[in-house]
Amino acid sequence: MQKLLLTPEADIEMKTAADWFSPQFTNSVFWLCWSSMLAFRDYHSLIEVRRYMARFLMKDYGMVWHRGILHTEYNEYDSIIKPMHVWLKSLGVRFRSDTTVTDIATSDLKGETWATELALRDDAGIHQEKLTRDDLVFFTNGSLTQNSDMGDKVTVPKFDRETKDRGCFSVWESLAARDPKFGRPAAFISDIDKSNWISFFRQLRATQRSLILSRRRPATERALAGQSRSSIQAGRSASSCTTSTSPTSLPM
Ligand SMILES: Cc1cc2nc3c(=O)[nH]c(=O)nc-3n(C[C@H](O)[C@H](O)[C@H](O)COP(=O)(O)OP(=O)(O)OC[C@H]3O[C@@H](n4cnc5c(N)ncnc54)[C@H](O)[C@@H]3O)c2cc1C
Repeated sequence: MQKLLLTPEADIEMKTAADWFSPQFTNSVFWLCWSSMLAFRDYHSLIEVRRYMARFLMKDYGMVWHRGILHTEYNEYDSIIKPMHVWLKSLGVRFRSDTTVTDIATSDLKGETWATELALRDDAGIHQEKLTRDDLVFFTNGSLTQNSDMGDKVTVPKFDRETKDRGCFSVWESLAARDPKFGRPAAFISDIDKSNWISFFRQLRATQRSLILSRRRPATERALAGQSRSSIQAGRSASSCTTSTSPTSLPM
């Protein structure tokens, strides 16, 4: 592991974790906790494993109990997204939901590439939105939850193998087909069986007793305490920075 951290990314391109670590290591309890927590398998990118090591290896002392992991007071939507939404709106930011970007037109000028137009699909149909030189476009060129589905104790999540319309990945494919400098989306989405993932978690019913217990006990014990219900989410595509797969990945 130390050798991996000291090896530059350029030297491990196209390698998998299995190319680097022995089967003895990838069968260890450490690997089971580490890879299931961060949702990767030994056939996934070694670069990804190395980045996770640089970011999270200091947490390994309590990994089996999920100790050291930061939690917000409420769920992440209510603690982070909602307040940010309200704050940005108060500053005049306009949010447009139910709108899909289906393509980004670009043009090359003096060695630079500019986004010139967005193709949008909304309730009114498909239309183009011209961009000026002052507009900034931040494009999420992959998402862990693209084409994902939710399940619960009685509903099996749908395994979506659609390849024609895969949201932000389709936009990325379109850009990459026009110019190789946009990268190779196929590295993330060409093998659905190796990039799908399933995540599940249990929710305690909010009785006072179980909430008090949940604050004091490590996560593994908390999961056993009180009444609970399970939720399952299944996704099909890995994000651009996270080639994930794990049958039992737990939210961090
Ligand atoms: C089950 C699970 C648990 C996780 N737990 C944690 C955790 O505990 N801590 C942590 O730090 N990270 C966690 N992550 C990872 C974290 O959620 C992601 O890294 C993060 O959300 C990525 O943010 P993003 O804005 O880049 O992309 P996303 O959150 O994926 O947002 C992309 C957005 O773009 C929209 N979109 C996609 N295509 C288009 C299109 N063509 N047109 C318009 N909009 C489009 C999508 O609808 C989506 O809203 C978890 C992920 C999962 C799946």
